[in-house]
Amino acid sequence: MLALTVDRYWEAVHNAFAQWSSVIPLTFIDVTRTQEKPDIFLAFSNQLCSLVCQQVTRTFGAWYAFTNPGERTVFNTFHQWAYRDTWKILSGQYVDFGTVALHEIGHHLYIPDEYGSPNSIMRMNTLNRHQRDFYGNYIRPGLQPDDIATSQRLYGRR
Ligand SMILES: [Zn+2]
Repeated sequence: MLALTVDRYWEAVHNAFAQWSSVIPLTFIDVTRTQEKPDIFLAFSNQLCSLVCQQVTRTFGAWYAFTNPGERTVFNTFHQWAYRDTWKILSGQYVDFGTVALHEIGHHLYIPDEYGSPNSIMRMNTLNRHQRDFYGNYIRPGLQPDDIATSQRLYGRR
């Protein structure tokens, strides 16, 4: 998992699902340590890319993650991932796992890319990825008003 510790990974994943779940009436249950088959499978790899995302890679450079909605998300091990580590993220050498996890879960909710106002979590191209406050402290990536409104149009309010 490169620079991301297992603890930070789980914290980021649980936080990202919890953020979506807090605004729409969907509950996500971690079945990792049970026998249940997951609806959503998360993995790290650079092998599981579909033909479409291979095309995207050739055009735009290495993808961060690829999601088949309602099935799986693959986070690309080509990148170094970090979470709650502002200086790594600001160095440009690491990708913020919290932001991408939140975004990919949006795809599992069938919200497309580039949807919403420029700072919404579904707009990776225009999203403010400098997650730090005036003092340099990490600001946890969060759902923006448009992300919340879109998900509530699809699923209702919690
Ligand atoms: Zn996307």
